[in-house]
Amino acid sequence: MNITEIRVKLLDNQADKLRAFASMTVDGSIVIRDLKIIEGNAGLFLAMPSRKLCDRCPSCAGKNHLRARYCNDCGRRMRPDRSGIDDRGRPRLYADIAHPIHQDARNLVQGKVLAAYEDELTRSKEEGYVPHSFDDLDYHVFDEKHAVEVS
Ligand SMILES: [Zn+2]
Repeated sequence: MNITEIRVKLLDNQADKLRAFASMTVDGSIVIRDLKIIEGNAGLFLAMPSRKLCDRCPSCAGKNHLRARYCNDCGRRMRPDRSGIDDRGRPRLYADIAHPIHQDARNLVQGKVLAAYEDELTRSKEEGYVPHSFDDLDYHVFDEKHAVEVS
């Protein structure tokens, strides 16, 4: 796999665990957007683009996020344990939209994106720094999702 371009959008809020967004281009042919660089307890890691998992209310069939405790449509109390557990023992509330299939690919992608992040961080301290334009970035989707993730 040849990663031909990586763009990093640094975020300013140091109180937030999200440090940057990134996009990457594979073989000059396909762009994967909405990668996130997150400061975790064990250092920086790369989160692949993901979507919220939902299920349907047993009473009204309304669609609810798995973290919802009550149905958004009818108010029925929802079982708190209805999400599965991921391989780190935490509730599985999100599914990756695009992700590496094996560890080698994961290491490659994470290594290159984190290196691009460090480069961008260095560049950002130089005079006359101009951030990449990210006309395709969907802040609203992110804000809503991230608010749930960190709560
Ligand atoms: Zn309902």
